[in-house]
Amino acid sequence: MTVIYNRVALIGLGLIAGSMAHAMRESGLAGEITGYARSEATRDTAREIGLCDCICDSATEAVTGADLVVLAVPVGAMGDVAAEIAPHLAPGATVTDVGSVKQAVIDAVGPHIPEGVHFIPGHPLAGTEHSGPRSGFATLFRNRWWLLTPLPGSDVQATDRLSRLVAAMGAKTDRMEPGHHDLVLAVTSHAPHLIAYTMVGVADHLSRVTDEEVIQYSAAGFRDFTRIAASDPTMWRDVFLHNKEATLDILGRFTEELFVLQRAIRMGDGDQLFDYFSRTRAIRRGII
Ligand code: NAD
Repeated sequence: MTVIYNRVALIGLGLIAGSMAHAMRESGLAGEITGYARSEATRDTAREIGLCDCICDSATEAVTGADLVVLAVPVGAMGDVAAEIAPHLAPGATVTDVGSVKQAVIDAVGPHIPEGVHFIPGHPLAGTEHSGPRSGFATLFRNRWWLLTPLPGSDVQATDRLSRLVAAMGAKTDRMEPGHHDLVLAVTSHAPHLIAYTMVGVADHLSRVTDEEVIQYSAAGFRDFTRIAASDPTMWRDVFLHNKEATLDILGRFTEELFVLQRAIRMGDGDQLFDYFSRTRAIRRGII
């Protein structure tokens, strides 16, 4: 493969940035990769495993001379990072982010981006419940969607170039309006994570079933359903604080449906339960 960016700066060195580093290196997509994370321990680990060509001690040093800057920090930290690096961005450079929420990141980052620098927000729909610099792997994005939410007037060539990088890492790309992205993701990711966290909370608060019993007899339902509740608490706190309206909308609808099923169970309405499960099973089976 050919080099798409000469120098890529990764700010935040966790699952997503780490996976990008591995994927770009494996296919030779970047001339050089620099990296920075706020915690010294993370930087030390990244150096130890040789994640990037250079791990810098400041974000400003990492972005100097970069033609692509990737903000891969929790959503709530994006604005502060953008403010810090803004004076050091090279004219013509592209800044993208990988945040799970788009409109709030655009509002926080956009105002800091200097004239002549392209800001093209994005979100890879790929992840695991693991975090940190050791958790990344080259194939994370393979055959997964990577949504770009360019702004009105975003530079077409810069957007196409970023799409080429994303595709070269194995992802399928699409473009979406940021607000619509946040609603779609509230259904497909944010609400399910909250419900999984809640289910673990429910199990923890039971007095007649012990934690030991939950762990020991964790049947496939609980184990499969709550895997995502092992995800990073900082990341998910920030997602909910920054995708408030859409998440509350979907949770409201979830609660309504739950009440319908709760009532059907109370009334012994087997037909209603059977019809509901048949319909939702058909939908679920259509998702690979
Ligand atoms: P992670 O916890 O694995 O890594 C986050 C990194 O950011 C860490 O290296 C941490 O040290 C660093 N960091 C935190 N605050 C910082 C700051 N102020 N300045 C510099 N570095 C800072 O997280 P991740 O899973 O890689 O998530 C990163 C971003 O990607 C988040 O915005 C998240 O919403 C998004 N995302 C995550 C997933 C997922 O499933 N994990 C999927 C898609 C997108």
